[in-house]
Amino acid sequence: MFSLFIHAWTNSLILFFICDLQGNFTDFALFRLLKAGFLIRMHSLPYMYLAGVVNSFDLNRKGISMGRRALIVGNWKMNGLIEITRGLAGDILAGLTNREKKRMMCEVVICPPFTGLYNLSEFLAGSALKLGGQNMSEYTAGAHTGEISGIMLRNVGCWYVLLGHSERRADNFEDNDQVGRKTAAALRDGLVPIVCLGETLEEREQSRTLEVIEAQLSAVLSEFSASKGKSHQLVLAYEPVWAIGTGKNATPEQVQEVHAFIRKLLADALGAEFADKIRILYGGSVKPDNAEKLFRLDDVDGGLIGGASLNASDFLAIIDAYPNNL
Ligand code: PEP
Repeated sequence: MFSLFIHAWTNSLILFFICDLQGNFTDFALFRLLKAGFLIRMHSLPYMYLAGVVNSFDLNRKGISMGRRALIVGNWKMNGLIEITRGLAGDILAGLTNREKKRMMCEVVICPPFTGLYNLSEFLAGSALKLGGQNMSEYTAGAHTGEISGIMLRNVGCWYVLLGHSERRADNFEDNDQVGRKTAAALRDGLVPIVCLGETLEEREQSRTLEVIEAQLSAVLSEFSASKGKSHQLVLAYEPVWAIGTGKNATPEQVQEVHAFIRKLLADALGAEFADKIRILYGGSVKPDNAEKLFRLDDVDGGLIGGASLNASDFLAIIDAYPNNL
């Protein structure tokens, strides 16, 4: 029985890789094959690992072979009771299902409040829409009242976790070192951290943007290197604090300057080839009408979307704006 299972599973992988090379299938096809046919649990480590590896392949991104698959993430923040999160996730999923071809080009993740995760876990299992947490503890378990561990997030179907969002840095006094430790904890617990970096308006006006980004990133990279993280196990999000929830946009020049700087820091620390595979998202008042010009920038591999992700048609329009999805 066991050998039959292994045989079937191996065949499905071979089939998947052949199809993927032809550009006809995506990791989503793999999810369905594994889930429907071969009873691999969605939260199992081999499954997560395979999906991570697959996510690092994208021969179609902006028409060039860059090894980075676009990622669009919705951060719902502290919004949504169970019924609302279920309805919103359902609307987004229905939209993705109608975009069979587009879904192949972009990976899409939503980060609802903790209370919505369990309910959505069953609903979204094996679908094109993945779940992420908005934060996690650096600890595994124990006397940490009010905290949620990475293992708990995995247990309710999360693949990703946002770390170091500027609202947590401001409201909960999370500093660079703690965000670094949380990055190590996320890797340890089998989650892909999406680490947010960004300067305040005051720091930008003092021309300290790059210095701030460098300090934030170096705390993350020292832990990432110590954890021997792979390129598909880290996502960075540049989010200028002054552009979050304000309706103010960073200009494409400002965004590309910081993204290229982050890529250079990654190359210095991890090597150019490795750095070229790490996805860097932009976040800060991304809306359907400004998404495309931001997504077209060389070092922008997708977006972290706050307010606009609370409206299914706006979020789907942002997904449609990604160049490969046109
Ligand atoms: C965010 O919360 O990460 C964010 C980018 O929010 P908004 O899109 O509303 O600016």
